[in-house]
Amino acid sequence: MVENILHRRSLDASASQNALIGRVLREYIVPDLYPFAIGLGMVGPALLAHGTVEQQEEWLRPIASGTAVWCQMFSEPEAGSDLANVALSARQDGEEWLIEGQKTWTSRAMWADWAICLARTDPNQPKHKGLTMFAIPMEASGVEVRPLMQMNRDAHFSEVFISNARISDKWRIGEIGEGWRVAMTVLAHERAGGGSRGGGDGSARGSQLPSWIADIQTLNDLSSIQREDISAVYSHDTVSRWTSQRAADEARVSGAPGPAGSGAKLRTVRSYKGRARLSNLSAGAHGMLESGHGYIEVMTAPSMSIRGGTDEIQRNILGERVLGLPGEPRLDREAPWNESRKGLL
Ligand SMILES: Cc1cc2nc3c(=O)[nH]c(=O)nc-3n(C[C@H](O)[C@H](O)[C@H](O)COP(=O)(O)OP(=O)(O)OC[C@H]3O[C@@H](n4cnc5c(N)ncnc54)[C@H](O)[C@@H]3O)c2cc1C
Repeated sequence: MVENILHRRSLDASASQNALIGRVLREYIVPDLYPFAIGLGMVGPALLAHGTVEQQEEWLRPIASGTAVWCQMFSEPEAGSDLANVALSARQDGEEWLIEGQKTWTSRAMWADWAICLARTDPNQPKHKGLTMFAIPMEASGVEVRPLMQMNRDAHFSEVFISNARISDKWRIGEIGEGWRVAMTVLAHERAGGGSRGGGDGSARGSQLPSWIADIQTLNDLSSIQREDISAVYSHDTVSRWTSQRAADEARVSGAPGPAGSGAKLRTVRSYKGRARLSNLSAGAHGMLESGHGYIEVMTAPSMSIRGGTDEIQRNILGERVLGLPGEPRLDREAPWNESRKGLL
């Protein structure tokens, strides 16, 4: 049955059918769709919102069928939380663009066929205005991927160095100077997805115990303190899933994800950390070893608060856009990027 559902997902499901399929998949342990998550969850929706008909025809079906893996080349050494500070440059040369610069923390770059890449096309404009979005084929000449090792020993993300790569103007996504708008669509979908790995983990299996609790239970007899701890994490986890569902439903109704995705991401991260801690503690001293139960999850947990925008940035978004608190001082908003940037150098 799960195979049928996965197959259906790669066909012509509508957005609401897709949401329903996602909900059913969460009930089962299914293959991990992590390599496809950027394409399915972020690039696909951004192409539907900003891509041309030709681009949708070229890219959407390979994304849906899993024949093309995409990565997201946004972050740079000086542009993470302050993403509008992106420096990677794209210079127009007739029908082509000349790309030069560095990206970092690019998950899946070593497997990707394509990258959605935010570039600076006009350094004389204020930082949010001189940006343009491109799709870059990862096998293009001048693109070099250097994998990095994380503290959980995962090597799924990389630095990407681009030197004199030439790409066609037909791979520009959105208008010149509109890159920030496209980036916001991509990020809103990323947050609404709550850093999802793209597959089910069996954690929503009706009346049965979620897999992570069953897992802990097989390791030892639970003390009353452990039961209490598990109940607290389970309650939070359940609320977290409802919050993500509400954010996704709101996004479907309004046509685009909004700041509710930031709340959903914060809760999802807290749930992940709680589950990782409990699984690891339940293994006792063995949990301190690399082979120990829950060790990898504990070592992965801090990165959950960073990827897709840090916890602090999600709280800023909620403060400003949901609670209506005064915005942060942003002194470099109107100045030309190449002048305001001098303060950083
Ligand atoms: C596992 C993992 C996978 C990733 N995958 C990708 C990817 O595929 N593609 C991609 O483009 N990027 C990716 N990233 C990068 C990620 O988006 C950035 O690391 C993140 O946005 C933070 O940027 P930074 O690392 O430059 O930290 P900085 O922005 O330098 O932040 C440093 C600290 O300062 C805090 N801070 C910064 N500004 C503010 C503020 N205004 N208010 C309050 N606190 C603030 C931050 O919260 C943080 O604690 C990934 C990161 C990780 C860890």
